[in-house]
Amino acid sequence: MSERFVYRFGGGSAEGDGSMKALLGGKGAGLAEMSTLGLPVPPGLTITTAACNHFFDQEQAWPETLREEIEGGLSHIEQITGKRFGDPNNPLLVSVRSGAPVSMPGMMDTVLNLGLNDATVEGLAKHADNPRFAYDSYRRFITMFGDVVLGIHYSRFARVVESIRGGRDESELSVEELKDLVGQLKSVIVEAHDTFPEDPRQQLDLSINAVFKSFNTPRARYYRKSQAIPHDTGTAVNVQAMVFGNMGENSATGVCFTRDPKSGTKIFFGEWLPNAQGEDVVAGTHTPGPLSTAQPGAAGACAPLSEEMPEIYAKLDGIQKTLEAHFRDMQDIEFTVEAGELYLLQTRTGKRTPAAAVQIAVDMVKEGIIDEDEALSRIDPASLEMVLRPMLDPDAKRKIIARGLDASPGAASGRVVFHSDEAQEAADRGEDVILVRMETSPEDIQGMTVAKGILTSRGGQTSHAAVVARGMGRPCVVGCSDIAVDYARALFYAGDTVIQRGDWITIDGGTGEVMDGQVPTLAPPTDSGAMADLLGWADQRARLSVRANADNGADAARARELGAVGIGLCRTEHMFFQPEALRAMRQMILAKDERTRQRALHDILPIQKAEFRGVFEAMNGLPVTVRLLDPPLHEFLPERAEDVDVVAQDLGVRTDVLTERLRELHEINPMLGHRGCRVGVTAPEIYQTQVRALLETACELTREGITVIPEIMIPLVAMPEELAACREHVVSTAEAVMEEQGTTVDYRVGTMIELPRAALLANEIAKHADFFSFGTNDLTQMTYGFSRDDMGKFLTGYLSAGILTDSPLAQFDIEGVGQLVALGTERGRATKPRLKVGICGEHGGDPKGVGFFHRVGLDYVSCSPFRVPVARLAAAHAALGKL
Ligand code: PEP
Ligand code: MG
Repeated sequence: MSERFVYRFGGGSAEGDGSMKALLGGKGAGLAEMSTLGLPVPPGLTITTAACNHFFDQEQAWPETLREEIEGGLSHIEQITGKRFGDPNNPLLVSVRSGAPVSMPGMMDTVLNLGLNDATVEGLAKHADNPRFAYDSYRRFITMFGDVVLGIHYSRFARVVESIRGGRDESELSVEELKDLVGQLKSVIVEAHDTFPEDPRQQLDLSINAVFKSFNTPRARYYRKSQAIPHDTGTAVNVQAMVFGNMGENSATGVCFTRDPKSGTKIFFGEWLPNAQGEDVVAGTHTPGPLSTAQPGAAGACAPLSEEMPEIYAKLDGIQKTLEAHFRDMQDIEFTVEAGELYLLQTRTGKRTPAAAVQIAVDMVKEGIIDEDEALSRIDPASLEMVLRPMLDPDAKRKIIARGLDASPGAASGRVVFHSDEAQEAADRGEDVILVRMETSPEDIQGMTVAKGILTSRGGQTSHAAVVARGMGRPCVVGCSDIAVDYARALFYAGDTVIQRGDWITIDGGTGEVMDGQVPTLAPPTDSGAMADLLGWADQRARLSVRANADNGADAARARELGAVGIGLCRTEHMFFQPEALRAMRQMILAKDERTRQRALHDILPIQKAEFRGVFEAMNGLPVTVRLLDPPLHEFLPERAEDVDVVAQDLGVRTDVLTERLRELHEINPMLGHRGCRVGVTAPEIYQTQVRALLETACELTREGITVIPEIMIPLVAMPEELAACREHVVSTAEAVMEEQGTTVDYRVGTMIELPRAALLANEIAKHADFFSFGTNDLTQMTYGFSRDDMGKFLTGYLSAGILTDSPLAQFDIEGVGQLVALGTERGRATKPRLKVGICGEHGGDPKGVGFFHRVGLDYVSCSPFRVPVARLAAAHAALGKL
């Protein structure tokens, strides 16, 4: 038998079913399934995605049998409806709608009321009580067909409508005016296109082709790319008998969800419009009313459906329950009421916010609809980071003025400021601000702390701004090369838009979008009970444990609340963000002689101790990996010429002395320079001071009854000898402190593996290490030879050329860097079979990366606090074989 390209549905049965989404598209499969369930679905036919793919492969030719199969499908519709296509007395009208396997709301085309012409409109008019109805349908058809199928710009029709409407609503037009409107709209088509196709079969053929083609429009391709939907599925086309929601006052149309798609609450939720067609609801041209007064935000332009049409509401409520139970997931349903008769036009798995997704999955387990494994599988781990952050109201209008990298999710609105002190002043006045900078440095911490969001024009996913904002849970967009920041004039340009200091903008750190003005946001759920349930189930299945990267007590406490079972990376340099700490550090760096340096280190000691105390207290009983100082020292000194004077004055040194020290510390490529254990080897007293601070605190806390489990970590090791030397300094200091304190603390000394040489020599390095932690940020930078600070310059070019699909600093490079992680783990464990191995680069929160780390046998991943839930769920997905 040759391949069939058309499947019929309606009249209580269907040739396809709900499992055939790939062939019939989501809409076609849903319609088939609803028909078989005996629900009131207008009859129709679905042209398969295979026909669409044939169309694209064969220079827009149809499969040989398609025409005949459509003919058969139309007879089926005619038989059930008792109307005939093109019949001037009682015409059948159809809708022609796209329906791809994965839904792409609003991206593809639809034509309604097809089959109307100057003859059939008269026949339609005869069968309706409402004299306006036929011509209202006809004018809608001409406009849609002209726009969608013939490609005539919508505005040309809108102008004609406007001239006749003269400020009134379309529903106020008389029959005569509608007839006049129809004539004028047809003239627009004839002007642009010579003729208006009166033959319904020709209208149908052209519309089917237009729907096929709409699968490949730039906007549809863009949407698929942004949602990681494949481009080769094609779309199905559904041709279905029209039912009319615009027949009069006992007709209506609407869209409903079986649960609230914003919060996930189990409440029947939706919108309806009396005497209207579906396009009116979707286009947002009319303000609809709620289904019932029970739903949140129930105020609408018209009364609730439950009051206006109580019988229809009751019937619809019954049907939505049937559909949800049948599909075992929240459904998005389109319905139409034609002259008091309810019809269903679509059901599909409803789109929902990340918070709603969690609520629904957990509720469905409790209601016995799905099991825990399925609930876990239904949630995309990456979406969990969004659950705890405010997000843009999906219904809100927005004007996007620029796009950058999605560094830290969440949406925030505020007035633009360009400097940290301005941010502080505005925050003191109680204003919300967005800190906009080319890039950030430790000097901007104050501003970042008080800002609602951070936007930088430069930098990548591991830039200072990105890492710090993520740690704080602050929405952040980085590397936004679409904007040009002009500090001197206190403004930035985004294309044609100029944003001045004090203007409102909104950023979405989950998408990287920058918007003009204030866009309404939805607050995160206050009760995350559902999330706790879900993650509890995840932990029962996961093998990898999840720690957090945190450098202060507050972040550590938050990480623990979010389920972290330890700190995998405490970056001690981040303890120098506060002004007095930064000052002590600067004094240490500028010290000319041993005595001054010791004095400065002496000042640093209590500062470090206070910070360690906060972290250790928060993590009582859990391990804390403390990394000794890592960045090149110049990062603590001022960068901008205008700041040099100020800092020199503050430190009581001459400007030229500071300038000279800056010159000495200057390196062409500081990330390959004097940093990490290289500082530890050449200036051991810095690490010694840090270890002293750490162990003194640990001993004090131990005596107070707090269990401290410190793991001291040496960064940027390339040679076993470096680690051996640093380890010796650490151990001798630690032993001395414990002796002084008369207290013993069980501590470990380990290393980061973040240079390719360290991975290759892991067997030798393991001899000096109690644990390994892969620093995949540096390891990625060093393996690619990309600078993590500047790669934004060419990343967009690489993304658009398709050479990269994402920044390797955001999405772990399993193919390349992964080999080093696998090999380093294997070689390390060849020396020490029970060596504890983790990863603390940003990839600890990348679900695909987590899947890989699970497979190569790591013990834990560590990521920023807000990504802990992401990693916990990803670890469960990995254990369930889903990653
Ligand atoms: C790393 O390199 O992956 C790492 C965690 O260290 P940092 O990002 O501080 O260099
Ligand atoms: Mg590093």
